[in-house]
Amino acid sequence: MPDSDPVTMIAALVAVFGVAMVIWLLIAAGLRESSPACLCLAGANALQAGAMLLLRVPEPDMRWLDLGADLMLLTAFGLTRLAVPLMAERPARWPPVLATVVLVAALLTQLPAGPTGYAHLIVLDGTLGILCLLAALDTYRLLRARELKRPLAVVFGGPFLLLGLLLLARPLGVMWAPAGGQEIDIHSSFNIAWLWAALVVALALNGTLAFLLVMKLVLQIRRLTLRDPLTDALNRRAMAEAMAREHHRVQRGHPYALVLLDMDRFKQLNDTLGHAAGDAALKALVDVLQPCLREVDLLGRLGGEEFCALLPYTSIAGAALVAERMRHLLARQAFAWNGQAWPLSASFGITEAVAGDEDPTEVLRRADEALYRAKAQGRNVVQAVEAVDAKKVAP
Ligand code: GH3
Ligand code: MG
Ligand code: MG
Repeated sequence: MPDSDPVTMIAALVAVFGVAMVIWLLIAAGLRESSPACLCLAGANALQAGAMLLLRVPEPDMRWLDLGADLMLLTAFGLTRLAVPLMAERPARWPPVLATVVLVAALLTQLPAGPTGYAHLIVLDGTLGILCLLAALDTYRLLRARELKRPLAVVFGGPFLLLGLLLLARPLGVMWAPAGGQEIDIHSSFNIAWLWAALVVALALNGTLAFLLVMKLVLQIRRLTLRDPLTDALNRRAMAEAMAREHHRVQRGHPYALVLLDMDRFKQLNDTLGHAAGDAALKALVDVLQPCLREVDLLGRLGGEEFCALLPYTSIAGAALVAERMRHLLARQAFAWNGQAWPLSASFGITEAVAGDEDPTEVLRRADEALYRAKAQGRNVVQAVEAVDAKKVAP
């Protein structure tokens, strides 16, 4: 970049940090989402802008200015490191970060700075680089935990990784080409390249953190639209979508089964113990039944006290085993409300999808018929309706 000069580049970096600070402040104040993380990032950007400005202040005793700028940078990187887990509302381990900042700052006061202060530079940039690499690892793990594909998680962890490597490379670069000096505002091709990289990475880094926030919001919205708020089981819409997806596979020879269940005499429980007890019983039911299922199986609340389990790659015989296990576990569940014990039970209707079923509602209708039979048989039983049976009873 022959036409770039370091002073303009530093001004551009200060502008980027300043704008990013204002944006994070506005998000924290306006959106009220992940406010601690946004405030950390506003602080980090403000401190980085401040550190850059301090480097430009003409002052005979540069030592204290340099130390001030170093401390600002250390704190800024510490805050950025904390912001990654905070963005996902995970606990941020601030004591080790604080201890690192304090210890390294104390060490820097003892190490001579200036053109030959390599130890000073290695300690400072080394610490900043390691903080960045840890943030890269955190970002990658967080995105993987949220089921983002590995290459994308690497891309979004990339800016932290790149900045970490840049920082670790800076002391090496200065030792390799000491002519440029350690002062970042001195015109040297190394400094120009480094400042350009810092500018691009500062933008990418703030972009990455904004992506983490957007991803959190998208997951929250998805949760609200697909999950039942009381029991956290899937809701009717999510189950309908899952059944439609699964139904395509039936045509390709992969069966699936449905287990429809309805709690027995639930109205009596509500009337006797109260609505809050009814809600607690619904949650208890989901807690008891969920472990009966495999990872690929889905449990949803269709409404009221009626639930449905979708079992991919399962025949009616397999569904009968699952439903029987569910029935048994629920009947053995010791449910009590305000010290009063209450027996829980449910009736189960099961069926298997066949290639002749035009759509999932046909399968669901059969499971409903089986459930009706289970209720008619006195409740707390499992009943099955096979496709052929259904065809027989159909007019
Ligand atoms: P059966 O054994 O025949 O299934 O009888 P039941 O009493 O379970 O069935 P019924 O349909 O008569 O009553 C269902 C009750 O479920 C009535 C309704 O007030 C209650 N209910 C529906 N949704 C909720 C809920 O979210 N929380 C609570 N506590 N009760 C609910
Ligand atoms: Mg009921
Ligand atoms: Mg019901």
